[in-house]
Amino acid sequence: MIKEKLDKILLKVQKPSRYIGGEVNSVIKDKSKVDIRYAFCFPDTYDIGMSHLGMKILYSLKNSKPNYWCERVFMPLPDMEEAMRENDIPLYGLESLDPIKDFDFIGFTLQYELCYTNILSMLDLAGLSVYSKDRKDLFPIVMGGGPCVCNAEPIADFFDLFVLGEGEEVNLELMELALTFKKNGGTKQEFLEKAAQIEGVYVPSLYDVSYNDDGTVSAITPKCGAPAKVKKRIIADFDSVYSPDSFVVPFTQIVHDRSVVEVLRGCIRGCRFCQAGFIYRPFREKSKKTIVEQVKNLTESTGYDEVSLCSLSTSDYSDIEGLLCDITDYTDAKGVNLSLPSLRIDNFSDEVVKKIKSVRQSGLTFAPEAGSQRLRDVINKNITEEDIMKSCKIAFEGGYSSVKLYFMLGLPTETLDDIAAIKTLADKIIDLYYTIERRSKRGISISISLSTFIPKPFTPFEFEPQATKEQIDERQKYLLDIVRSKGGKRIDVSWSHYETTILEAVFARGDRRVSAVIYDAWKNGCKLDGWNEYFKPEIWDQAFINTGIDKAFYANRTRSYDETAPWDHMDMLFTKDFLISENKKAHEEKTTAHCREKCAGCGINKCLGKACFKYGE
Ligand code: SF4
Repeated sequence: MIKEKLDKILLKVQKPSRYIGGEVNSVIKDKSKVDIRYAFCFPDTYDIGMSHLGMKILYSLKNSKPNYWCERVFMPLPDMEEAMRENDIPLYGLESLDPIKDFDFIGFTLQYELCYTNILSMLDLAGLSVYSKDRKDLFPIVMGGGPCVCNAEPIADFFDLFVLGEGEEVNLELMELALTFKKNGGTKQEFLEKAAQIEGVYVPSLYDVSYNDDGTVSAITPKCGAPAKVKKRIIADFDSVYSPDSFVVPFTQIVHDRSVVEVLRGCIRGCRFCQAGFIYRPFREKSKKTIVEQVKNLTESTGYDEVSLCSLSTSDYSDIEGLLCDITDYTDAKGVNLSLPSLRIDNFSDEVVKKIKSVRQSGLTFAPEAGSQRLRDVINKNITEEDIMKSCKIAFEGGYSSVKLYFMLGLPTETLDDIAAIKTLADKIIDLYYTIERRSKRGISISISLSTFIPKPFTPFEFEPQATKEQIDERQKYLLDIVRSKGGKRIDVSWSHYETTILEAVFARGDRRVSAVIYDAWKNGCKLDGWNEYFKPEIWDQAFINTGIDKAFYANRTRSYDETAPWDHMDMLFTKDFLISENKKAHEEKTTAHCREKCAGCGINKCLGKACFKYGE
């Protein structure tokens, strides 16, 4: 039925191969032998979602069980969504082309706050009510996972449940529970109450939130036996964590069109602005043997000629050089390229450069984040100018001639001197290049990418205000003026739009009342907000007016250490006291050593019942 309708519209939309399924390694099952059907929804386009490793892992994991069938679903672009609505085609799974409203689970991965309106569009296109309270039937259960769950309050009213932390085990536990309910019967409320007893499951309807007169949260009260704090799930034995042997290989080009192997989870650094560095703690890595095996399996099963090693900071792998030797023994023999997207500069050695020089690299990217050492100390980006210069020297000697530098504007305690230091640092890199490449006609290409600092929950900067638009405009202009001043060296500068970053800031630290803005903006036409071409700032502005929600209250306000945060009922296994002490150290311009050097006492080791690293060996 859907297939026939699709045949009529596919040639009228761009890149129809996004919408037809049938790719190599996609999983087709006999419906009569399947007990639980799961629609894995990525709330962005196929091109982005198909590049996402988490989706590949959970898709394969669920499908490894004979009686479970997981299908992929992506956000259609406006031309396709319009054609689907005109032709009464509900949102469907790419494998079966069946409507997802008939599935048992609809699971969204929440990677990025600006995808929230896409979730509403997808639920609506599926033919479901967007509010959880209006979906009375037991199935489908609408659930969410991924980093945004650490504060899912702004979208809590749309979801039945969330998974906090790593999903490999808990997803299967929820599917088992659903199977029991299918056999024995039960209501949605009964299912949710049982699900809330599974570690890592957060059922927002089982918590009442009250507010103080000043608008801050007064209390978050569990009911119906839900735990006072929802504890993050982690996979303790990471070396044996499920990893797919094959990936779905798309017909059309996607953002990251290659095999990807996860080498480690967590991060030993403690960059104070970085949510991922905190919420994915503790640091765990796979053995070299396991990683090389996975590289081989994926290369054989996908036919890709490129494999990427993925993590928050691949060069923090304990034996990165040994690992690269082992992998390149195989990839060189097979003619497969190896890419390493997340290298840190302070441990970017000669050996590593030699290993990656043989692979495709368009340029060198560094993220000092702040121009001055003072501000790098505030944010605990434990790298010095000397480290940066050393890494650049090795890279230039290795033949690189293009450098991209990432910085943030609006960091806590930032002054115009810190911004001027961005230009000084770029100039020094240029000078260094010409001392090395003196006789070469090849010029250096250097670009500065500026993002706006967004305070995120579960970081030491969760208490900090986001800089206002006026402050960011002033600082951008200051930098541009000095970069473009007479006699200045040629440096390209790009920056993010404040209108989207403030939305991200509101959603990141919002409470349940913020859902009204998301609903209003979506109802009036907002979706694909992470895409410049589809972002509609005037509708968002109107939505804030319509709902009486004050952006500045959520984004630009300093929060006291003792304020109840909307996410205080989430337990990420480290303590709030640790975040407070890190925040105080930031204001004292003091750094904290990384976890491999010295444990800073965040508290995760107590939950694990052992130290994260062996010290003094
Ligand atoms: S317990 Fe110590 S070593 Fe482990 S993540 Fe926390 S600070 Fe790092």
